[in-house]
Parts: sequence; C-alpha cells; structure tokens
Amino acid sequence: MHLSNQQTNPSRWQGDRWCDFVQFLKEQGVKVREKRIETGVYITDAGGLALGLPHGVVIAKNAQQISILMQAAQQFKVPVTTRGGGLTTEGESVAFGGVLLDMTGMSRVLEVDAEKLTVRTQAGIFWHHLAETLRRDGLDYLSAPLNLTASVGGTLGVGGIDVNSSKHGCSADQALSLQVVTPTGEIIECSDDEHSTLFERVILGYGQFGIITEATLKIRPYTPLRMHYFYYSSLKICIEDLLRLDKSQTCDYTGILTMMDTAITLLVAFDSEEREADFMGGMKDTLRGYGEMGFALRLAASFAWRPWKWKEALFLLQRKRELFPDLQPAHHMQGELMYDRTAVFSKAVWKHWGDRHMVIPDLASNADKFIEAVERGNAVCRKHFPYYTLYCVGIRLRDEHQAHYELSSIPSDARGWAYGCEFEPMYHGQEYSRDTLQSFKNEIYDVGVALGTSYYRFGGMMKGYIRRALGDAVVEKHLKLKQEADPAMILNRDVIF
Ligand SMILES: Cc1cc2nc3c(=O)[nH]c(=O)nc-3n(C[C@H](O)[C@H](O)[C@H](O)COP(=O)(O)OP(=O)(O)OC[C@H]3O[C@@H](n4cnc5c(N)ncnc54)[C@H](O)[C@@H]3O)c2cc1C
Repeated sequence: MHLSNQQTNPSRWQGDRWCDFVQFLKEQGVKVREKRIETGVYITDAGGLALGLPHGVVIAKNAQQISILMQAAQQFKVPVTTRGGGLTTEGESVAFGGVLLDMTGMSRVLEVDAEKLTVRTQAGIFWHHLAETLRRDGLDYLSAPLNLTASVGGTLGVGGIDVNSSKHGCSADQALSLQVVTPTGEIIECSDDEHSTLFERVILGYGQFGIITEATLKIRPYTPLRMHYFYYSSLKICIEDLLRLDKSQTCDYTGILTMMDTAITLLVAFDSEEREADFMGGMKDTLRGYGEMGFALRLAASFAWRPWKWKEALFLLQRKRELFPDLQPAHHMQGELMYDRTAVFSKAVWKHWGDRHMVIPDLASNADKFIEAVERGNAVCRKHFPYYTLYCVGIRLRDEHQAHYELSSIPSDARGWAYGCEFEPMYHGQEYSRDTLQSFKNEIYDVGVALGTSYYRFGGMMKGYIRRALGDAVVEKHLKLKQEADPAMILNRDVIF
C-alpha cells in the first residue's frame, strides 16, 4: 500500500443522533460543552498538522461519570477521543467529531506510600505536578517523558521514555495497577494478577481498550543528577558507545542529542557520587567522545578547510551560545548537580526545538538494527532540511512484560533493550509546507518498513505504516480484540485500526 503524502485526517463523524446523546447525558448529570470557544482549543495536538473539532467536550471528573459517558456513547454510537496533555504529533489525541474527553480534570495524587515506594494517582495529572507532590516527601517518579505537560494516563498508553529508561524501562513498565473504564463503561481495577488481559491491552494500548482513570506507580527516593557530556563527530561511534554503556549498566541516565550529524552529544548522568566515581575510574576511558574544548578545536579545524560549510558552522556556534546556558539554568542547579531534570529539559525542548509544527517522526528498533536505522533516517533529514536534530535513547525491556509490548512502539524482535531515535527538523525562521513536512515523515516511516522496526509515534496519520512494518497477523489479532471490547468501535476510533 502506498500512502499519499497528502494523507492526513480521517473523515469527520457526521453527528448522527448527537442531540439525543447530549440530552441523554444531561439527564444523567454529565455536562457536554459545545460552544466553539470550548471545543476550539482542542483543534490540534502538539504536532499541529492534524486538524479536527469535537462536537462537544467532557471534562473528566471521576470514573462513574466516564462510565456513564461510555455507556451512552456505545448506545448512540458516538465516537469518544481521550486526551491528556495532547502531546501526540500524528493527531491521535485530536477528535474528528464526537466527544473529546479531557482527562486533565482528574489530576489529584490520591496516596503516597513512602515505605512500599508506590503512589496512587488520578491519570489526568501532569508528571511535573506528580513530581512536585512526591518531592515534598523526598520521593520521585521513576521515568517519565521529558515534557512538563504529558499526563500519566496518556503516557502509560504510549510508553513514556526518559533518559533513565535504559535503566528503569519505559513509564508504562512502572505501572503496578490501573483503574480503567472500558469502552462499554465497566469500571475495572486491573494488574498483572487481576484482570491481567485488560491490563496487558491497556498498557501501551494507545487508548484503544479503555480509559485509564487512576494508576498505582512505582516510585523511588529523589536524587539530583550528576551530568556529563561527551562529544562525537560520528553517529556510528557515538551510538556504539551508547549501546555499550547501556549494556554495562554503569550509568543511571544515557542518551544522544545531536545538531545534524555534525555535533553529536552523548549525555551520561548518575544518581549517586559512588556510581559517578566508578564510571570516572573505569568505563569513561573506553568512550571515544571528546571533551568540549577538544571537540570544539576538532570541529573548527574541519570547518576551516570547507568554506561551503561555514553557514552551518555559524549556526552551530549560535546554537551553542543560546542552548547551553538553558541546559544548566542556575535556578535548577546547585554546583554540578541538576535538580528538576524534567523542568530543565522540557523548557529547553519547547524553547529551542519547538515551533508551530512539532514534527518528530521516529524509528524504534532492536539494538542490532539501530545504527542503520539512525543513519538512514539521518540521510532523510539531510535531504530535507539544512538544520535538524536527532534524539536517541535506550529502553530496558522486561521479559515478563512481553505481552504488554505486543502491537506497540516496542519492536517485537527486541530483547534486553529497544532503541528509539526521533528525527526533528529545526525551522530556523524558514517556513515549510504541510506537504513537505508530511513527505519528510513518510520517508522516515518508510525506513521503518524497510528495516522492520516499530515507531514511538504510533497511529493517527501514520497508522498505515503499522500494518506495513508490523505485519497483518498481529494487527488483525488486536483488531478482533478491539471489536470484542468496543462493539460500536467508538473509543479512539481511527487511531490504530
Ligand atoms: C515536544 C515534545 C517532547 C516529547 N518528549 C517526550 C519524551 O521525552 N519522552 C516520551 O516518552 N515522549 C515524549 N513526547 C511524546 C509525548 O510526551 C507522549 O506522547 C506523551 O507522554 C503523551 O502524554 P499526553 O498526556 O500528552 O497524551 P495525549 O497526547 O493526550 O494522548 C496520547 C494517547 O493516549 C490516549 N490517552 C490519553 N489519556 C489517556 C488515558 N487517561 N487513558 C487512556 N488513553 C489515554 C490518547 O487518546 C492518545 O491516543 C514528546 C512530545 C512532544 C511534543
């Protein structure tokens, strides 16, 4: 199947029986907000390329209210789209008609157990709000997106990758149990021991099999970060070092951030002085990256002989001047220690990377295919944009969670670790048409089909790639499960299937 570069939004639901549905919900005490000013704010997601308006918005209050909503939605066959922070980039959290269920109305921390190291929270909460609450008791979440406005529920549905996911796994792996409202309106508590099939499907389930209303998550004692950067000019060598570091389990945080394929930074960080000291006295010497000064001199020498690249050199210099201070803001640092990594990275991402369109196609592969995936994706970036950035990170996999990973961003052939790379254009004042951005994304996703990888952006405008990259059998199996769980196919319809 070939996807046209213009393929974007699914068709809008026509609104059959909408008024009867709203009246029915009103009688049941569920308020639907229909004014344009109330629906208009949900017109797109962080990607800014998919555009759709709901007929009405319901602000989540509790599981009972959502249960009534879902029962009515099945009866009247009205689509419901769940949304947390709306940080998807392929329109997965955009409603093309029907109800937009805004989960951010459910954002309370319910119980912190400092002894068992668990927290029970409502699922519409943003991670930074959860972090603030936990910090009062000297505690922290394990791993979460480096983004202030991602919600817990939305993240458990898509995965959730942090720079410590190479050690702790993805956010979804931190969930011990969930309260879920099923597409037919049942309220069920599920875990690996109780209603385990539902748990398996909802975790990394892209909102297809239920709405997460509450979650019990593993947590940990809070520690600030001890950060180190190593600089490379070869993607391949830097990724080889990243893979080696992750396998050695000597670091608590790892990741790669690049400026094109010219300035490649390996980020390494630690939770404790002891771990840092062990690394500095051992593994560090095996890394092939340079310190900041050594790398700057090498880069200057390489640019000196290539005047046609001086524009790029100027860009790198300007970028360094603007970005580096924001990666070590005084109010989030104490000496060398970084407090609030989510705040630091999230602000930097939105300030220095974000633009009107957050276009971040990605490839998620096993360790063996990762270098080729990144190199091929990098060539696509080079072809389309003068300036771009790559972000690579590892995800520790749990053998016992294999069932959770089926039909998700975690590649089915990955064992031990999976790896992801995001490819992000930097506009630098330049305007690009939606067609150009869509063509770019399609070319990245085509690399995934060729190599048999998976994708972190999973669904929405790119859903055609899921079947092509992961195969018909697994998609058909999950479609059948979806049809059983959601007879009217109304919950987050058109997103995956
Ligand atoms: C600038 C930027 C930086 C990012 N950085 C990272 C990063 O570092 N790591 C990372 O992992 N991701 C990252 N992402 C991706 C984004 O963080 C994830 O998509 C995010 O975790 C999703 O959370 P959300 O609340 O925004 O979910 P939404 O976008 O609102 O929803 C995601 C999906 O889950 C469904 N959903 C939402 N809430 C629920 C619920 N309660 N129950 C069931 N289904 C639900 C939605 O329908 C949708 O399909 C980034 C995105 C952007 C734009």
